[in-house]
Amino acid sequence: MHAAPEHAAAPGSQTPTGLRSIHVADLARRNGWRREQVGESANGIPIEAWWPTTSRPTRVVWAAIHGEESVTLQAAQHLLRVVHADDACAVVVPVLNPDGVLAGTRQNARGVDLNRNFPSQTWSDAPSPTFWSTSITRTTERRTQLSSPGTHPGSEPETQAIMALVERVAPELVVDLHTPLECVIAMSDRSQAFAEHLAEPAGLRIVRELEGPTPGDSASWCEAAGATAVTYEFELAPMPAIWSRHSEALVRAIVERRRSR
Ligand SMILES: [Zn+2]
Repeated sequence: MHAAPEHAAAPGSQTPTGLRSIHVADLARRNGWRREQVGESANGIPIEAWWPTTSRPTRVVWAAIHGEESVTLQAAQHLLRVVHADDACAVVVPVLNPDGVLAGTRQNARGVDLNRNFPSQTWSDAPSPTFWSTSITRTTERRTQLSSPGTHPGSEPETQAIMALVERVAPELVVDLHTPLECVIAMSDRSQAFAEHLAEPAGLRIVRELEGPTPGDSASWCEAAGATAVTYEFELAPMPAIWSRHSEALVRAIVERRRSR
């Protein structure tokens, strides 16, 4: 009988060849994704986009435009770890509002709700309510009920960064990840089919409108810019529950449907 070798790995736990860390950036790069800084937050933190292999990506997907919804960034980062860049058609921005993520706030460092700051026709200079009366209560220490929409449409560096990226990629589809409304929001007829495709695996309902107006939201601006925009909202839950329920939809968001021959 021989002794088990020291430091023997448990079955199935071997470190994959060449993997030196479990940093998201390393894992994504190992999957072929290329990182590029596409902007900077109000506090000077880089906003990074991850590019797939294809020279003509057709989609842009972003997460954590609301900093308190950091589960969306965890899900987006995990997506880069599990989908190879060769298979993807989307540019992914896992953290659009880094200042808000670090502060645990919905808004950016200047108190602006970035998803009310886009220069769509609906932009309004009135402070924007975070929510209307709803069945979901979200109260945290740093939460305010009213957010600034910015001094003028597109005033914030984070908004400008994602607008420039969308204009550069000219995507057919954009997906904006949020939580916790547990639905897929399709604001237009043309977004319905893609919303159904995304909503199906997790059994999410598709809604056309929220309970109140969302002036200056990204989807309106993207649709005016020619992209079909879908907002995907997780339920209020942490990882890994979010991943188990939504991974198929998230993969669908960045991988094109396989065409039958
Ligand atoms: Zn949100």
